[in-house]
Amino acid sequence: MSDVLLTLDEVHKLVVDALRANGCNSENAAAVADTIRAAERDNCASHGIFRLPGYIASLQSGKVNGAASPVVRQLSPGVIQADGGGGFAPLALQQSRSALAEAARNNGIAALALINVHHFAALWAEVEPLAASGLVTMAFTTYKPAVVPFGAKDPLYGTNPMCFGWPRGDKPPMVFDQASAAMARGEVMIAARDGEMLPPGVGIDSDGLPTTNPSEILDGGALLAFGGHKGSAIALMIELLVAGLTGQDFSFEAAVTDNNDGGPPNGGELMLAIDPSRFGDSEGWLAHAETLFEKLNVMEGARLPGDRRYSSREENEANGISIPASLHETCKGFLT
Ligand code: NDP
Repeated sequence: MSDVLLTLDEVHKLVVDALRANGCNSENAAAVADTIRAAERDNCASHGIFRLPGYIASLQSGKVNGAASPVVRQLSPGVIQADGGGGFAPLALQQSRSALAEAARNNGIAALALINVHHFAALWAEVEPLAASGLVTMAFTTYKPAVVPFGAKDPLYGTNPMCFGWPRGDKPPMVFDQASAAMARGEVMIAARDGEMLPPGVGIDSDGLPTTNPSEILDGGALLAFGGHKGSAIALMIELLVAGLTGQDFSFEAAVTDNNDGGPPNGGELMLAIDPSRFGDSEGWLAHAETLFEKLNVMEGARLPGDRRYSSREENEANGISIPASLHETCKGFLT
């Protein structure tokens, strides 16, 4: 498959232009393009421009409001709600970030209930800015049924990612971001596109039998949770934290309301922000955590989560990124 080389600014412009040509206003288009640009910059292809056809499909079907204007409210001293108005999640996240940070600094801890949004991105992109500003940050979101509860044969949970960010002063924060599924669905889709088999333990086929064929997982099969019953419990927790707390759809409910246009369902997200200087070790917490990172970093074979992403930034900013020519053609087709 031949590739096309694009600068990250060209990626951003292509995404903005394609979204605007299909019903997004400039604010929403720019916010989505920011997350796609960040994914390409960090070598996270499964949440980069690869997602543009799904975003466009949701605009064309009328499922997503491309001109949504988020409304941010303070429900209590420590709880912010952002209603995304049926739009894509990035604009609502950008517009509620400062309210969440302020509530966390005022109270020591605060939560953001993001409702009525369509989330199609990697969570680290929204966690990293808060963690870089000095707040310990977590984020969770749901999807549609894609993951089988441990011991069952049918999917009930979404791929349900969780993300955790820890501030490191002048250094980039430590951020991990992982699906509850053994593998994110986007990675399975890329493997199917590229004709690659998966490692064992990722999913089952439509008969409930283990398979390493990504197409069998996507066509009537399902993903397994990572780590057996333990990942399955985390997927359950995320359903409750996101949908149980905020009144948004559980993944199984989103399957009923979604039109299956290829884009993300309507749903919610929960974020938690914690001010580490308010937990009794205001002078020492930063240096104390660094002693743990230093121990880990000298262990042969070990590395901090997030370091793979950070290591690619400078080069991709300078030299651009490659995408498959067929994907580039598809994206250019959205401009007319
Ligand atoms: P991975 O399994 O690729 O990585 C999970 C985490 O583990 C990352 O933080 C990664 O850091 C870290 N990691 C990987 N290898 C190592 C290692 N050898 N040592 C230390 N840390 C390591 O991610 P997933 O496939 O589970 O998820 C991919 C993305 O999909 C996530 O960003 C998630 O938010 C997104 N997603 C979004 C959904 C949505 O509905 N919006 C649904 C499901 C997933 P690093 O990046 O540095 O490698």
